[in-house]
Amino acid sequence: MEHYKMLINGEWKQASTEESLPVINPYDKQQWGTIPLASKEDVELAIDAAQHAFNNTWKKMNGFSRAKCMLKLADLIEENTEKLAIHETKDNGKVIRETKKQVPFTARALRFFAGYADKIYGETIPLDNMNLFDYTMREPVGVAVLITAWNSPMQLLMNKLAPALAAGNCVIVKPSEHASVSTLLFGELVEQAGFPPGVINIVTGDGKVGDMLTSSDRVNKISFTGGSFAGRLISKSAADNFTPLTLELGGKSPNIIFEDADLLKAVPGAMAGIFASSGQTCIAGSRLLVQESIYDEVAMRLAEKVSHIKLGDPMDESTEMGPVANENQYRSISKMIENVEAEGAKILIGKDAELPGEGYFIRPMVLVHVDNSMTIAKEEVFGPVLSIIPFKDEEDAIRIANDSKYGLASGIWTSDLSRAHRVARELEAGTVWVNTYRTSAVQAPFGGVKQSGYGRERGWHSMLDYTRVKNVMIDLSSEARDPFSINV
Ligand code: NDP
Repeated sequence: MEHYKMLINGEWKQASTEESLPVINPYDKQQWGTIPLASKEDVELAIDAAQHAFNNTWKKMNGFSRAKCMLKLADLIEENTEKLAIHETKDNGKVIRETKKQVPFTARALRFFAGYADKIYGETIPLDNMNLFDYTMREPVGVAVLITAWNSPMQLLMNKLAPALAAGNCVIVKPSEHASVSTLLFGELVEQAGFPPGVINIVTGDGKVGDMLTSSDRVNKISFTGGSFAGRLISKSAADNFTPLTLELGGKSPNIIFEDADLLKAVPGAMAGIFASSGQTCIAGSRLLVQESIYDEVAMRLAEKVSHIKLGDPMDESTEMGPVANENQYRSISKMIENVEAEGAKILIGKDAELPGEGYFIRPMVLVHVDNSMTIAKEEVFGPVLSIIPFKDEEDAIRIANDSKYGLASGIWTSDLSRAHRVARELEAGTVWVNTYRTSAVQAPFGGVKQSGYGRERGWHSMLDYTRVKNVMIDLSSEARDPFSINV
């Protein structure tokens, strides 16, 4: 049994109350560790530490020195890929073939943003006709609280942490109680990379701990990845203190296959959209919109391929789908599947395949005869359940795609370049993939519209979320201005 500790002000601590939460492997349902359940006192200590580090060390270091720590950290992550990936897989059941790729991706994100650390420029605003010299500077916001979900803890963290650090902020990280271990192991590397104490703090615990952090008036920025329910609560806390907020929430993303698509690419693309990570991705292409003329063919091709997906031990490199991440997830997905037939959908595949053990396994499921008004097409399942919805033509596809409260991602499969651009322009989503799905690049901005959230992660755009603009105006005239009139 491993007993993990939290990182506060450069020290490894148990909760002040000595309370802890269990760490459970979703593959065998066995407890293999504990993480601290932080108290209010621990949370306050972490905020103190971040504030102190911000004012006394990190803010005073120049961008080049900040980048040096970040680059060292990236090297250490790469050296520890195996260890971080194995622990993440043991914690949330994500297949090792993916966690082993996600970990080095986080090192890449750190290097990308380290490059910005000494290149955060302001602007000069031409006001010479008013005899004024005006310029802007971008400064860090201060203490940022970074809250992540359990499905990809390291990757979600780095989307936030790398730009926050590059911009000169200090942070308090709160991973999900359901998958905190990789983040805590990452904390050990933070120390080795030479970050001053308090720049990166990691506190663990449940949603109440998250709430203590996000409702603090000593926090200057919140970045949250998670579901709409917690997102809404955090928005309210943030509003009380006017704390700037980035929200990366859920989705019900449309993946659209037109009749002129190359099905040899589109069918695996549809699978990547929903069965990778056992469907537990915010960008899941859970609504597959297929043109009527090819509907049956696509459904049959999918059913054939899905019947061969290899479920098994996520630690085995050949496993394609592991268990879902925890008991809550298992129950919530099972409940949503229960009602699909009563609503009129037909289960094409996913009812009776053999399961590889006692873990939290859900069979990959393909549903046909789905109408966009059904619950299964409206609500996020966050599991391996694909709804295939027919459409007539381009206009109909756009209408159905946009008929959702969410707007995170979308996909278009077509060989008609003009159609690809036309449809991309019309889709209400933060990301549009054309002839691909679930491909990622740290350079490309990512985020949602509508109830999928706001703000952007990755790319230069996310640096803007971790800085604020200050305007400096200097009078160049030698005479006093009229004190009773505005100078415009
Ligand atoms: P939750 O919203 O339940 O939790 C997310 C994080 O918020 C966890 O660390 C959680 O802690 C914490 N939290 C819970 N309640 C509060 C609160 N009141 N105040 C502050 N923090 C709180 O989401 P899940 O972990 O279940 O993740 C699944 C959701 O995340 C899905 O909707 C998915 O679409 C979304 N997601 C979005 C992504 C994106 O980039 N847009 C990427 C990945 C997932 P704890 O778990 O300990 O309760």
